Amino acid sequence: MITGKNFIGNKTSSKGTITYKTFNPVLNKETPWAFKEATSDEINEAVSLAVEAFKEYKSCSGAKKAAFLNAIADEIEALGDSLIETYTAESGLPEGRAKGERGRTMGQLRAFATLLEEGSWVEAIIDTAQPERQPLPKPDIRKMQFPIGPVVVFGASNFPLAFSTAGGDTASALAAGCPVIVKSHPMHAATGELVSAAITKAAEKTGMPKGVFSNINSKGIKVGKQLVMHPKIKAVGFTGSIKGGTALYELASQRKEPIPVYAEMGSINPVIAFPSALMEKGDFWAKQYAGSITLGAGQFCTNPGLILGVKSDALTKFINTLGKEISQIEPTPMLHPNIHKAYKTGMETASSQAQTKEVAAYTGKANPNYGKAKVLTVDGNVFLNNTVLHQEVFGPYSIIVQCENDTELENVLNALEGQLTGTILGNAEELTQKSKIVDALKEKVGRLILNSVPTGVEVCPAMHHGGPFPATTDVKYTSVGVSAVKRWVRPVAYQNWPLELLPDALKNENPLQITRIVNGIYTDKKV
Ligand code: NAP
Repeated sequence: MITGKNFIGNKTSSKGTITYKTFNPVLNKETPWAFKEATSDEINEAVSLAVEAFKEYKSCSGAKKAAFLNAIADEIEALGDSLIETYTAESGLPEGRAKGERGRTMGQLRAFATLLEEGSWVEAIIDTAQPERQPLPKPDIRKMQFPIGPVVVFGASNFPLAFSTAGGDTASALAAGCPVIVKSHPMHAATGELVSAAITKAAEKTGMPKGVFSNINSKGIKVGKQLVMHPKIKAVGFTGSIKGGTALYELASQRKEPIPVYAEMGSINPVIAFPSALMEKGDFWAKQYAGSITLGAGQFCTNPGLILGVKSDALTKFINTLGKEISQIEPTPMLHPNIHKAYKTGMETASSQAQTKEVAAYTGKANPNYGKAKVLTVDGNVFLNNTVLHQEVFGPYSIIVQCENDTELENVLNALEGQLTGTILGNAEELTQKSKIVDALKEKVGRLILNSVPTGVEVCPAMHHGGPFPATTDVKYTSVGVSAVKRWVRPVAYQNWPLELLPDALKNENPLQITRIVNGIYTDKKV
């Protein structure tokens, strides 16, 4: 049963007076589930509990934290159909997607558990002393990563599970040893409540301190701002709009003690179609891209919003086939009326720009909140001179830019903002011959993809889901894969410390049997 309450540590609370409900975009009406905007007192209590919990949680062994993360995955699974039904009602996304995302969420939690059990993620580096060194003796210095402190996570609208309450940001912060306070996304607060109950149960079962997790409900930016400004919060994770992410980033940097905000925001994910791909497999790629542009009503951060090619008969044929495919794809529900409205506005703004032409649009009738796909095309020089066309339109939309030659294509790439992904359709010979284009793309993105679509982010240790601003606020980090843990840690070096008082990861005997760098060499041996 959905209660609409906040989870403050291990108890529920509902002191606010402002009530809101979530919305079912398929039925085009509110759900029965009502939530109360969290009060200042509730926020302060969640932070105080997190601060207390950190004192104990930061020193929990890898095995204990791993048991907690695995228990969260188990409890999420145990929610069964009620989670799937609540997710689909609040998001309009289909059951298959809900189940897939649940599996991914559990998989992420388990992957961090495995990382903790192995243990080398703490990056232990040991440089032993050289007392005889001339002219000065070298001290014994040993460094490793420690958790940064209580973290605030903003749930994302477009991934109610995998990037929300127990999503990648929460899982990675808990893995690092940081208590987490989630600011639930108002569009799927009931899904968030079910998952919060699962996390709380897992925390109790595995003996975690009671403030290790809290979930705060709110619709409106006041609560999020108060959380980010709270002096005891040490870092923030966010997935959403460029406007929201940059606002929080600026807020955090204006604090008396500025803190990092790891925001994943906008991306149009350029795709370059080289001649070989257009000539040999143009129809195939047109169909693949019609599917990718409209997948999940285009509500993916890796949606291909920009396709680039040099003018040719093969490019014209590709555009025509893509247009034919797009115009036949039935609209699907978008997450919320506001997102649908933002999509319509963005699409109309792009379409009204001078010298853009419509390639295809779904012209049939659609239910309220359903996103009709649209693809535009424009010449390279027009695109170069109109940055409105460079902006993300969140939904089933893309623009094909037809360039005069490779130089213009390279200029277009150089004019783009930072991106999560960049894709090339082509062969190895073209990658070599057109290395300047490949390099220009690489400078803009966090992930280079060959002969595929950008939608679909594999969760594995080698994944990098990040990129230069405005794809993210910190180009160095990923929000997908186990490296995401690095956002929530800080290094501490011990100089000339008594060996028996060092953390286990830095002790001579290497009791955790982890891989370390000892005097410049990777090893799992004793010192
Ligand atoms: P959003 O508006 O950025 O909101 C995300 C979360 O941040 C919400 O909980 C929101 O709080 C909070 N927030 C936003 N601005 C804030 C501020 N100035 N101060 C404090 N908190 C703030 O994103 P959204 O609701 O997910 O969707 C809106 C648009 O974001 C979409 O139409 C789309 O363009 C974009 N989006 C992009 C991606 C991507 O991966 N590229 C993903 C999702 C969404 P409240 O909602 O409670 O006000």
